[in-house]
Amino acid sequence: MFCYQCEQTYRSDEGAGCAGAKGMCGKDATTADLQDILLYVCEGVGQYLHRARLLGATDIEADRFILFAFFTTLTNVNFNAAKFVEMIQQASQIRDRAKALYEDAARAAGKTPETLSGPAAFAPADTMAKLLAQASEAAVRKDAAILGEDAVGARALILYGLKGVCAYAHHARVLGEERDAIYATVEHALDMLAREERDVATLLDEALALGRANFLAMEALDAANTGAFGAPTPTSVRVTPIKGKAILVSGHDLKDLHAILEATKDKGINVYTHGEMLPAHSYPKLKAYPHLAGNYGGAWQDQQKEFAEFPGPIVMTSNCLIEPQPRYRGRIFTAGPVGWAGVRHIADENFAIVAQAAQALPGFTEDAPEHTITIGFGREAVLGVADKVIDAVKSGAIRHFFLVGGCDGAAPGRNYYTDFADEAPKDTLILTLGCGKYRFNKHDFGTIGGLPRLLDMGQCNDAYSALVVATKLAEAFGVGVNELPLSLIVSWFEQKAAAVLLTLLALGVRNVRIGPTLPAFLTPALVDVLVEKFGVQPVGDAKSDIAASLARAA
Ligand code: SF4
Ligand code: SF4
Repeated sequence: MFCYQCEQTYRSDEGAGCAGAKGMCGKDATTADLQDILLYVCEGVGQYLHRARLLGATDIEADRFILFAFFTTLTNVNFNAAKFVEMIQQASQIRDRAKALYEDAARAAGKTPETLSGPAAFAPADTMAKLLAQASEAAVRKDAAILGEDAVGARALILYGLKGVCAYAHHARVLGEERDAIYATVEHALDMLAREERDVATLLDEALALGRANFLAMEALDAANTGAFGAPTPTSVRVTPIKGKAILVSGHDLKDLHAILEATKDKGINVYTHGEMLPAHSYPKLKAYPHLAGNYGGAWQDQQKEFAEFPGPIVMTSNCLIEPQPRYRGRIFTAGPVGWAGVRHIADENFAIVAQAAQALPGFTEDAPEHTITIGFGREAVLGVADKVIDAVKSGAIRHFFLVGGCDGAAPGRNYYTDFADEAPKDTLILTLGCGKYRFNKHDFGTIGGLPRLLDMGQCNDAYSALVVATKLAEAFGVGVNELPLSLIVSWFEQKAAAVLLTLLALGVRNVRIGPTLPAFLTPALVDVLVEKFGVQPVGDAKSDIAASLARAA
């Protein structure tokens, strides 16, 4: 195996990358190799779909499969090797279908179909053992000696950005929102990867195109979530348990949470959110369920301790899953793209079995002291008080906005984000989203001009909300987003964050600080391009970064 797609990749003096029997996330070499093969076959599907589309023929089921397949390979999503063998066979059949679609379309247009090579011609074996023997053909760095390190890094940026786009687009799709332009861009990017493009400028242009597609995906997801469940409103959420039977729901999929709330209605079971499911409490149609009782625990990296102590079943609806421990392995369930060998998977959105498990488990035996936090400052809520915000800026009450958000992780260096939020001057307003907020969202930041100083905008999936707010504020002040008194301090961990970064760059947002480390797949030359063209910079020391941000805006 070789994988360097996430922030926690193994790093040593020789370089970065998880290459042993297991990655730092617990992904074993078998699963990692099979994931590479799956994506390689998907590149072949993309080769045909891209050409078919140019001739006016499309296959939406094939596009949907690609979204799901890519989502399963994100960090901390699916660790079930057998599932990947199954999906590789499916991908191979879909590729045959895409080939026929393309060839028929070509002939109908009076053209001779091209004979494609590379992933389009790769013949995946029919057993896990034989597939593993083919893994070197699909490895991420397979042609590094030919392509060169910069091209390999830029191709990795596309591959991992694609994973993020696919995850967002899949989330939107399950709630009925799809954008054909996203599928067209995904197919184009897959074709580019398949033909071993090595021109770095061309590859970086493609990465920015993916950033634009990701903006569409995030817009679609926002439309999907708010269309299904209403626009988030500021909401006080209990973060301590109450007596009674309990289910814990983690991940990002609001549709699954809704199905769980329906399956447990009037059964005397309390449903708690964990991690990135916290923002669910702010959606009107979800918080209308009185048994959506509160939020339990913190970010994903604490789950092994917190899940062990939770007295009921746990459902992982999307990332971020880490190895289920014996103390709760028998009461954890996965859904959607998530998987772990031996853990029960719910494929049909029927969560009755989880309700039964909750009835059979003890639940909380007593109330904990009440403690609440306020969330739900999505774009509508913030823009609803835009006049207040604008007045506060004009009067000098708000000097600066900091967006401190993104993924959390266990690696050292992430206290930076806690320090940053805590050290931000009292006349600054802090926007946050993603599970990075758990580093400070229970701190008391006080208020500014009648507004809480900390505004929780939602999941990492809600970065769209932050972009809309920034764009509208810029319009109100008659300036560009880069001229706003706004600094973005992004914490990244996995590939959705890579996609969001590409979106920021594609929209021309400059001077984003990212950390706690820069992506390992970016070579020094690629970093130089990001620094020169977009002002991207690594995080440093919180106090100095705050001072530099305020000085830049002054
Ligand atoms: S996902 Fe991250 S931690 Fe896991 S194997 Fe890949 S780089 Fe390593
Ligand atoms: S913000 Fe990133 S790290 Fe956190 S739960 Fe979501 S995907 Fe995982």
